[in-house]
Amino acid sequence: MKAIITGGAGFLGSHLCDLLLLKGHEVICVDNLITGSAQNIEHIESDRFTYLEHDVTKPLYFGDRIDYVFHLASPASPIDYFALPIQTLKVGALGTYNMLGLAKEHAARFLLASTSEVYGDPLVNPQPETYWGNVNPIGPRGVYDEAKRYGEAITMAYHRYHGMDTRIARIFNTYGPRMRAGDGRVVPNFINQALRGEDLTVYGDGSQTRSFCYVSDLVDGLFRLMMSDFSDPVNIGNPGEMTVLEFAEVVVGIIGSDSRVVFEDLPVDDPKVRRPDISRAKDVLGWEPVVGLEEGLKETIRYFEKPIRGSY
Ligand code: NAD
Ligand code: UDP
Repeated sequence: MKAIITGGAGFLGSHLCDLLLLKGHEVICVDNLITGSAQNIEHIESDRFTYLEHDVTKPLYFGDRIDYVFHLASPASPIDYFALPIQTLKVGALGTYNMLGLAKEHAARFLLASTSEVYGDPLVNPQPETYWGNVNPIGPRGVYDEAKRYGEAITMAYHRYHGMDTRIARIFNTYGPRMRAGDGRVVPNFINQALRGEDLTVYGDGSQTRSFCYVSDLVDGLFRLMMSDFSDPVNIGNPGEMTVLEFAEVVVGIIGSDSRVVFEDLPVDDPKVRRPDISRAKDVLGWEPVVGLEEGLKETIRYFEKPIRGSY
């Protein structure tokens, strides 16, 4: 098969490029490098791989056959979408519209990388796909949450109105090699602080919870979802929930650093709990994560100590 991966030079996209190439497919990676990096794909030597620098908020035309469009392009870290609010809204809205149009033109199957942020600050824990969420549309996170909610709405409209074959993955916090050290997310922050022997910056009192999924599990889930015949949203994430404070202790324990914790202000609208209900992924995809937190963190710590690009 021949697949386009938008956001393919980003953290998740580059691992998805690796996975599809490993499975023998052709990959066209489309990215404008706004938050990604050419370094994430520079290890790829396959002649089945093409890189195209393009901003997907502008239309994209291909003469060749395309079978699958994985639409991952979007800033994903809170500090990125706080800094890039208009680009985030544009890529979620115009980018998704353009990539649906491209998929439709080629009768290709389309997958949207959506997010647990569609549940906002959830009043239900864990979150099943049937929960509609609790999002503040005008808060600083609204640019990301609402862009993704719009992305889901337009994807379902193309599915219902044009009969297109579409998939929606609601991705929960994922970590692993090729995250940017400075992307501000909790995993790279804590690991790099602990490696440098600095204090770990816990926002708020650290009682908010997250559930961390290792990247190889995540891209396996995305691939299975694309290959399934299921067009309603599917949560992809690891249900192992812990508080941010507990997570800080785990990171310090594995690294063996004598870093301490310092408390800083909690960002506005920071969700208080987050944990995926993955019953649907288990039933429909036969998928569940297999990499434990300690194993995944050790791999990620090795990457931040000494970046290794090709991990497959
Ligand atoms: P990332 O920032 O590493 O990757 C995003 C990629 O999209 C980057 O390479 C960036 O340059 C590219 N991009 C952004 N706007 C673009 C545009 N207009 N045109 C072309 N390329 C553009 O982030 P990530 O963590 O790899 O996230 C990938 C996708 O998964 C995003 O859609 C994100 O919303 C979703 N997601 C990720 C997580 C996670 O924990 N990593 C959780 C939920 C959802
Ligand atoms: N967080 C933290 N310290 C940091 C970075 C993040 O305490 O240095 C917290 C953040 O407030 C949130 C959680 O860790 O409660 C996860 O944050 P992240 O930015 O990784 O992603 P989010 O789940 O908020 O999208």
